[in-house]
Amino acid sequence: MRWTKFFIPTVRETPADAVAPSHRLMIRAGLIRQVAAGSYAYLPLGYRTLRKVENIVREEMNRAGAIELHMPAMQPVELWEETGRTIAMGPTLVRLRDQPWRKGTVLGPTHEEVVTDIARTFLNSYKQLPVTLYQIQTKFRDEQRPKSGVLRTREFLMKDAYSFDADKADLDYSYEQMYKAYCRIYQRCGLPYTVVEAESGPIGGDASHEFMVVTDAGEDIMARCRQCGYAANLERAMPAPVGKQSTEPPAEPQEVHTPDQRTIEEVTAFLKLGPERMIKTLIYKTDAGEAIIALVRGDHEINEMKLARAAGTAGVELADGDTIENLTGAPVGFAGPQGLNGKARMIADQAVAMMVNAASGANKEDYHVTGINPGRDFNPDLVADIRNAVEGDGCEKCGGKLHYEKCIEVGHVFKLGTKYSDSMKAHFLDEHGKSQPMIMGCYGIGLNRIVAAAIESHHDEAGIIWPMSIAPYQVLILALDYEDEEVRRAAELLYTELTAKGLEVLLDDRAMRPGPKFKDADLIGIPLRVVVGKKSLADGVVEIKPRGSKDIEKLSPDDAAERVATLVRSDMEALFRKA
Ligand code: ATP
Ligand code: MG
Repeated sequence: MRWTKFFIPTVRETPADAVAPSHRLMIRAGLIRQVAAGSYAYLPLGYRTLRKVENIVREEMNRAGAIELHMPAMQPVELWEETGRTIAMGPTLVRLRDQPWRKGTVLGPTHEEVVTDIARTFLNSYKQLPVTLYQIQTKFRDEQRPKSGVLRTREFLMKDAYSFDADKADLDYSYEQMYKAYCRIYQRCGLPYTVVEAESGPIGGDASHEFMVVTDAGEDIMARCRQCGYAANLERAMPAPVGKQSTEPPAEPQEVHTPDQRTIEEVTAFLKLGPERMIKTLIYKTDAGEAIIALVRGDHEINEMKLARAAGTAGVELADGDTIENLTGAPVGFAGPQGLNGKARMIADQAVAMMVNAASGANKEDYHVTGINPGRDFNPDLVADIRNAVEGDGCEKCGGKLHYEKCIEVGHVFKLGTKYSDSMKAHFLDEHGKSQPMIMGCYGIGLNRIVAAAIESHHDEAGIIWPMSIAPYQVLILALDYEDEEVRRAAELLYTELTAKGLEVLLDDRAMRPGPKFKDADLIGIPLRVVVGKKSLADGVVEIKPRGSKDIEKLSPDDAAERVATLVRSDMEALFRKA
């Protein structure tokens, strides 16, 4: 491709909200253009990269035995009502205004409902299983805060796959195939990724993993142990149990008048205690309507997923004011565990069980109490891990320390079990002729996020440094003094030779000063650059330089094509071999 015949609208100024490097560079390099908040056009260079990512994803899905199909973005709301997800998805679900000829249409944020409907129609016998279906399709999510360029948008491309199995062991196998395919995809895309254990809801266990790329632009946090490599999403990370909080002898409980001091911050400031000496008492309701008293330390955050699992329920939500007042006998803000045993099930975080002379609400308006001790003043019905890990917590696996790292999720694999096959009655007949729900898994990759995450991981001050496998072009011939007859002939010849070898070549044939051409070359980040200029040609050479390195190789124009082809091939093979 010749630059003058192509469309690369590089820009100098980026919007003030473009903070993430990938956001700034994608705009500056002319890869994308924002059309509306959270919706982007892919300009030709950007689209080439997106397509390459798509190809890699498709190849690896096929290699793993998944079968491609294509499902519509427009979906009837009835399917979503079957699973109850019109409510669960909340405002992120994009609904189209009803028309006389079309009632209740949503734009798919994901496709579990549609694919399960297909499966229940056509997969009726164990003999037809296992099946893994996938597609590459546009998804719509009315994200509240679209952010960081294409990292979080309202319309994006996802590869989503769904596995259907006859039993749990088969699901484990299907899951492993997808997991391995994901690893290969990221490796081939040149993405440094980390697999983390992710929250998997009531299924628990090892049922869900996320593939993360560490970057400050990310909105997720993983807790990672640098000693043993254990990594988990913050929601999921399990801290090692903490020891006894102090060796102080137990004090006597003492009520303190704390007028209008309700929040942990207010009370700890008032009592002149660290928040780690306070007990937060939270009253929850389970899905079944049971009240639960949950206790965590004042400096810790409750984790509702962990609480639900400990309580043996699918979900919990904070109880309303009336329930709290009835249970504690005091207005909201003054609850404490002492005296509440027997009023509802009490679940304490493990760190609470280790507290000594703690403070908490006194179950009395405008009063708190100090000097309370677990075992003496209250007795949890259950002690469990029900909080988020914090930076510096012990690693549950090896006793090292957990560190927080900001990251972005580029993929997610999930054992769904029978969540959808139950609600949508996707049943099959097993070997004994008995009807069983299919065991499902789902597997998503954000293609746009791979592109942006690759830039987050591979750039410098001057611009992008594409991994060879997903670069919009593999080679840039930078012809300086293009109007010079000899330069033009040498550059054109090289262009023809490289193209004939099957390489993807961009020829910068613009009649411009060298400065801006070099700047653009650095910005758009084509991995291999060949400079053809009057001066070096007079010395009988052209100059080959990888974008990410300072080394320049000088070769005669006759030898250049062979050398460039070798370099491209070895880069591609290295990425492929690792995978
Ligand atoms: P997040 O927590 O970041 O919102 P998610 O957990 O909702 O993502 P999934 O439903 O697991 O996302 O979707 C699978 C993949 O789709 C994600 O791993 C991510 O790569 C991509 N993805 C999800 N939401 C977006 C978005 N708004 N813009 C771009 N890609 C997205
Ligand atoms: Mg996810």
